[in-house]
Amino acid sequence: MEFLNTREFAQQLDAKDKLAKYRDEFHFPHVNGKQVIYFTGNSLGLQPKRTKAYIDEVMDDWAKLAVEGHFYADKPWWDYQERFAAPLSKIVGTLPSEVTVMNTLTINLHLLMVSFYTPTPKRFKILCEEKAFPSDQYMIQSQVRLHGFEPEDAIVEIKRRPGEHNIRLEDVLAKIDEVGSELALVLIGGVNYYTGQVFDIETITKAGQDAGAYVGWDLAHAAGNIAMELHNWNVDFAAWCSYKYMNSGPGNASGVFVHEMHHNDLDLPRLSGWWGHNKERRFLMEPKFDPVRGAEGWQVSNLPILSLAPYLASVEMFDEVGMPALIQKRDCITSYLEFILHEIDKEVKGHFEIITPTEPKERACQLSVFLHGEGRSLFDYLMKAGVITDWREPNVIRLAPVPLYCSYEDMYNFGQILKEGILSHKK
Ligand SMILES: *Cc1c(COP(=O)(O)O)cnc(C)c1O
Repeated sequence: MEFLNTREFAQQLDAKDKLAKYRDEFHFPHVNGKQVIYFTGNSLGLQPKRTKAYIDEVMDDWAKLAVEGHFYADKPWWDYQERFAAPLSKIVGTLPSEVTVMNTLTINLHLLMVSFYTPTPKRFKILCEEKAFPSDQYMIQSQVRLHGFEPEDAIVEIKRRPGEHNIRLEDVLAKIDEVGSELALVLIGGVNYYTGQVFDIETITKAGQDAGAYVGWDLAHAAGNIAMELHNWNVDFAAWCSYKYMNSGPGNASGVFVHEMHHNDLDLPRLSGWWGHNKERRFLMEPKFDPVRGAEGWQVSNLPILSLAPYLASVEMFDEVGMPALIQKRDCITSYLEFILHEIDKEVKGHFEIITPTEPKERACQLSVFLHGEGRSLFDYLMKAGVITDWREPNVIRLAPVPLYCSYEDMYNFGQILKEGILSHKK
């Protein structure tokens, strides 16, 4: 499509946008009385207006029913998490029995590593991407030490080539080959948080498994953002948080995927608790653990219903919209933002560079922009002008034009504000 950097053109795109009505379903912050342009849905998604009713429902049930709410609430609490299986399985491409929700992301990856990182003296290495999200780095280091290995020996990072911003698939596959029979686990972020690069989950999973390793994915920036078929791709396990693209609220619950092929493997080590126990027999309080044959077999505690309620509101909204429609708008609005950035860059003469891959298959809803001038003050300028972006050292702003609530006119307005900001800094 030929784009134009004009307000009229942006408004025409909005008029044709089938998801436009969802914009009104969200609360936006205001700066100087004006609704902001929100680019940080990859960090904390906006609050859907319908969420409050889901929380109020739990509060009312608790007030009226107290302990009886476990069984007699409209949405009983004892199996509340089962409401996620059908809609969530469509969002991440799994069988319903392969997903559940519990805890938070890093904790879940730890729990899953207990099952899927079981090193031996010969096969003990973990392959991850260079500059992985800090929490993942700390987690992997601590797991390696827990098993008596040193991070320097056991952790292998896939590096970017000098002068390049993104990791090449061929380099991932070469590294898997190189580590070969020493490889115990491949654990990578499906969408890189810094550059927005989307990895080829299917190809990497197959290569890792062919080398004899388990392959798991941190899908923090992928869930609700990219199309996935975790079941068909034969991924061993994955987890994601729900407060980024999935709009469930700060620090909220995590989703977990465990492939069906592992459900009946009772020899896999795991850290267990009563909510992972056979459902029919859970309240018999038996001494011997009998795991649910599904992702729910990795549950530990009874669930924080007040935090699942907003996640359920969000999952039901995603189900209503459907990933295909979301992805269609995502690609169009991200390309429009890219176009606007290039137009502005021509006017301000090479002030910045987009480091996210240009290849549509390798990116989703994020453009990371490396600023060549003084970046931090430009970032502050944008904030004051009502554009919420985020800042990453050394000089990167990340922009996520989230398709559920960002408009094409937002992109146009952002371009104008950015241009003024850069020109006023150059004076
Ligand atoms: C956001 C994010 C996390 C956050 O982990 P929490 O346990 O939810 O604090 C972890 N990993 C990646 C890749 C992330 O983007």
